Amino acid sequence: MPDETDKPLISLIVPFYNEEAAVEPFFAETVPVLEAIDWIRFEIVCINDGSSDGTLDALIASGARDARIRVVDLTRNFGKEAALTAGLDEAAGDAVIPIDCDLQDPPSLIPVMAEEWKKGAEVVAARRTDRASDTFMKRAMSALYYRFHNALAEVKLPENVGDFRLMDRRVVDALQDLPERHRFMKGLFAWVGFRTVIVDYRREPRRHGASKFSGWRLWNLALEGITSFSTVPLRIWTYLGLAIAFSAFGYAGFIVLRTLLFGNPVPGYASLITIILFMGGIQLIGIGVVGEYMGRIYDEAKHRPVYLVRGRYRGNHAVGELSAASGIRERERRARQVDEEQSHAA
Ligand code: UDP
Ligand code: MG
Repeated sequence: MPDETDKPLISLIVPFYNEEAAVEPFFAETVPVLEAIDWIRFEIVCINDGSSDGTLDALIASGARDARIRVVDLTRNFGKEAALTAGLDEAAGDAVIPIDCDLQDPPSLIPVMAEEWKKGAEVVAARRTDRASDTFMKRAMSALYYRFHNALAEVKLPENVGDFRLMDRRVVDALQDLPERHRFMKGLFAWVGFRTVIVDYRREPRRHGASKFSGWRLWNLALEGITSFSTVPLRIWTYLGLAIAFSAFGYAGFIVLRTLLFGNPVPGYASLITIILFMGGIQLIGIGVVGEYMGRIYDEAKHRPVYLVRGRYRGNHAVGELSAASGIRERERRARQVDEEQSHAA
């Protein structure tokens, strides 16, 4: 029998936020799919993103039954981007696949991704061909957002490609070497590049529970995307200011001439107040945009970790330190640990 540890290890990264009902169905569907790929080993790294329901207990129970399921418990809800970052730091795999736990990202696509990876792709990104499961509003806003983002940002986001993708270890290393704390994952994925193959799938409706992304959260994610990948909103004010200054200059000349030719009957309250309010509005918007960027610079400057880990579980016991630790790279240590355990098991 060939040594189990010769097989490449694939890590699934699964963020869970109040997904108690989704835990069991997720493993029930995913584990057989992974087991059917006979040339790989796998681990499922579950990130509990500060759930307030029974998600953590359900995850630990699943982990106790199956040693390939690992649980990482964050100290609070840090958001999906941070949870994915935690997953990338924790994963030991030769390839890593972030996947949603609500089965909207079909596990049946994993063997297809793995095949493409075997053939030499460094990234295998899944593209939604059919988003009928999203509301019309969500699709329209999303299309608009991609347009807007790609018009402003230097690195284009491929449309309808989410976080569900396979990434080779080299890609994950590259992502971990990006030092920023504001982690707009879709943008970072696009930024690192690499040889990418696209596979299409149909997006099914959510199996359990409700979406965690309200309109407000999506709006903030959109702001995060723009401010992380474009400085156009900052720089546009110079040009807008210049344009307004020049028109004001022209208009001043016109008024001087008109006064010289026809005298000054002093009307113009309406135009005056309109221009004052308009200018006031424009200035506030400009300050607001600068504020968006400044706030982010402030956040970056504080150098806080992206997330904190309360504990890690494997089998039916806690592993690793229970104190709060940050996303320090421990991949090599973990990889050895996984190798040891799986060769024991084999
Ligand atoms: N999620 C998370 N932290 C959050 C919000 C969401 O870990 O703060 C997880 C959630 O549990 C799910 C995935 O991110 O596994 C996608 O969330 P959701 O299905 O609500 O997003 P949608 O599919 O509606 O875009
Ligand atoms: Mg979903």
